Amino acid sequence: MISERMIAMTKSSSAIRAMFEEGMRLAAIHGSENVFDFSLGNPNFPAPAALNRAIAQVLEDTDPTVVHGYMPNAGFPAVRTAVAENLNARFGTAFTAENILMTVGAAGGLNVILNVLLNPGDEVVVIAPYFLEYGNYIRNFGGVLRVVQAEEGTFQIDPAAVAAACNEKTKAVIVNNPNNPTGVIYPAETIRALAEALEARQQELGTSIYLLSDEPYRELAYDGADVPYIPCFYRNTIVGYSWSKSMSLPGERIGYLVIPSEIDDYGLIWDAACTSNRILGFVNAPSLLQLAVARCLNEKTDISAYDRNRQALYNGLTALGFECVYPRGAFYLWMKTPGDEKAFIEAAKRHCLLLVPGSSFAMPGYARLAYCVSPDRIARSMPAFAQLAREFGLGK
Ligand code: PLP
Repeated sequence: MISERMIAMTKSSSAIRAMFEEGMRLAAIHGSENVFDFSLGNPNFPAPAALNRAIAQVLEDTDPTVVHGYMPNAGFPAVRTAVAENLNARFGTAFTAENILMTVGAAGGLNVILNVLLNPGDEVVVIAPYFLEYGNYIRNFGGVLRVVQAEEGTFQIDPAAVAAACNEKTKAVIVNNPNNPTGVIYPAETIRALAEALEARQQELGTSIYLLSDEPYRELAYDGADVPYIPCFYRNTIVGYSWSKSMSLPGERIGYLVIPSEIDDYGLIWDAACTSNRILGFVNAPSLLQLAVARCLNEKTDISAYDRNRQALYNGLTALGFECVYPRGAFYLWMKTPGDEKAFIEAAKRHCLLLVPGSSFAMPGYARLAYCVSPDRIARSMPAFAQLAREFGLGK
């Protein structure tokens, strides 16, 4: 018999797998061009040409025993220095290589840091709706999730509620900005208020509460929106970043953690994070990708195609009468389901529309649509959405 912990985790991740299988089933019946799959956050746009060139150049001009060899568990020192300097230029920080730990994507980074921070029974605060994998990452290390609801309607953070959810056992709060699944961006005033509330709560409790800033969507912010850099607001911040979304590289598994020198127990945390990276089975982030992304740090993410998709989907769906949150970042649209969530998701499937139920983000009554798809797919899906809207009595 396998571990009970894994039985529970496998069950909780079955919804996304079921959606994937449903997509394949529908494609076999109707043809893949007639299935409108809005379920996966898998960028449909190619990685920048500069990144592909950088991979080729690294292979051409770097000693193969270096490119394909082991390195310090935190990553190549020169890559970490380049990342630190890039962040310093953008955010006015003073990071060095000793603050940057290269990771196997954002997921790898979160697991590394949660492994470092959590004793069994320690708590981590998450804000619902949230990326459901957080639950598994936290339970991996015997941690306990404490869920705080986002503000109704706006899906912004309620700083007082987050602080109130913290107790002696709270090790961390996870904030994801821009947000998956809502597409909301938390502005500087919200982050400032959260920082003040957490600072006060730390003082009251006499503990350290680390804010884990999960930022795989940092570069995907529309209309010139600012995504505040949380280490500039709250001292005990650890940042998790990945190039999965900004450079369309989710399969390559490359990202980093920023562990600022100013955080409580920096030395202990840094050393333990390097060990954690090794013993969780990653050993180090992929070497070729480390060297390639370091050459592309000034590459600007072209978000114009996502932006057009965002407008097309939001305008199309709201015109049909669907209630949606105006997305300001990431590539997700958050929609209120008219009527029962399950019935709506099932009805959508009958029209070959694959949406992720809000309950997959711990908030039933909503659906998430990933618009990192081809523009043509959005345009061609509109008649199906129109039929769905009529079925649920929306519109005129
Ligand atoms: N955090 C959030 C909010 C995400 O949406 C995702 C991926 O979809 C991740 C973390 C994991 O990112 P990565 O693929 O870089 O591990």
